[in-house]
Amino acid sequence: MHDRDGKIWMDGQMVEWRDAKVHVLTHTLHYGCGAFEGVRAYDTVNGPAIFRLREHTERLFNSAKILRMKVPFSIEQVEQAQLDVVKANGLKSGYIRPLVWLGSEKLGVNPRGAQVHLMVAAWHWGAYLGEEGLKRGIRVKTSSYTRHHVNITMTQAKAVSNYTNSILANLEATEDGYDEALLLDSAGFVSEGAGENLFVVKNGVIYTPDLSAGALNGITRNTIFHIAKDLGLEIVQKRITRDEVYIADEAFFTGTAAEVTPIRELDRLEIGIGSRGPITEKIQSAFFDIVNGRNPKYAEWLSPV
Ligand code: PMP
Repeated sequence: MHDRDGKIWMDGQMVEWRDAKVHVLTHTLHYGCGAFEGVRAYDTVNGPAIFRLREHTERLFNSAKILRMKVPFSIEQVEQAQLDVVKANGLKSGYIRPLVWLGSEKLGVNPRGAQVHLMVAAWHWGAYLGEEGLKRGIRVKTSSYTRHHVNITMTQAKAVSNYTNSILANLEATEDGYDEALLLDSAGFVSEGAGENLFVVKNGVIYTPDLSAGALNGITRNTIFHIAKDLGLEIVQKRITRDEVYIADEAFFTGTAAEVTPIRELDRLEIGIGSRGPITEKIQSAFFDIVNGRNPKYAEWLSPV
């Protein structure tokens, strides 16, 4: 990943991809206090554009605030950095990764004295859970790991440290032959995937866990709320049990990387018809229309590169 041509925006400068390095005594590398974003650019009908750039950038700043890190740039500068990185790498579409971290100026748990740094990288990244997964649905396993309690490392921050939990859950699921993990909260209710929000459909109504289950307030999740409204479908945020997912008519994951990925199986139990369900398909198709610039109603969600 590090050894390629291209540019990375680092603390206000565009640097060569191979030279975008940090010291081994970087505070975040030792103690895990950092925040990041995952953003996508699409090759829309009107040219390359970043989807919901403002919302992602605001979430990055909010994550940093929750982690008590002051980003040394303005929201506008960080938005511009993302647009510039996509352009500098000649990308028409791709994945954008901003990261805020604490530098190597000092170690010790107390980070005071360590500088807050920011970088933005971008590269080509296709369907996160596979093209086949987008069409046929993926196989998911309920994780033996619990999703974070809301009062541990803060669940509304897209915090670096939260992802150790995601990594463990994803490794367990994929080593057992599944595509992704579904995590339950500390009370045993459904929270989210290792890197995705969850939705289920039952009798024509869409359900998703409310954020007290420790799920990230996903920007794709919010996009689904808009799509459902447009399609005249009801969405209910509530506590969801694992067996409600087993007997749902349809289920799907959402995320910037995962987009809208149907779930065809949980814990070896087929969900509904065991492939992408009709409501999931409608939502997925509306989602791809929006991100590809084919729905003028959401034109302001696309920032041209
Ligand atoms: N939950 C987790 C744990 C995630 O990593 C992500 C991906 N950022 C999501 C949910 C979905 O969030 P979004 O739609 O904003 O990408």
